[in-house]
Amino acid sequence: MHKEFVLTDWIRITRAFNEIEGEGIITDKGNTCCQSCGAHELGSDDTPYVFFHEQDELDAFGDDAETLDSDLYLSYSDAGTAITAVGILRDHGLQASWDGDINRRIRIAV
Ligand SMILES: [Zn+2]
Repeated sequence: MHKEFVLTDWIRITRAFNEIEGEGIITDKGNTCCQSCGAHELGSDDTPYVFFHEQDELDAFGDDAETLDSDLYLSYSDAGTAITAVGILRDHGLQASWDGDINRRIRIAV
């Protein structure tokens, strides 16, 4: 039987991250172990970045690894990058927000 295509949260985030990359921002989905490793690995030069680390991914996604069970938090390099990323994430139907405080992360609400 043909399986119907379902636009999951993971696919929305992947599409949004691809578009964010198009803005010259490095992205990463869960390939770094923690916030400091991610910032170190992605922020080694001056290129802006947005990412969530492995623990964030495990905490936020359900057993299917496709659907958000709880809020997902994203780290970023600077305020301009956060604003760009939130706009694109929202364009892709995700409930992204950032309160303008660079000490707080971008939130994608369930
Ligand atoms: Zn680490």
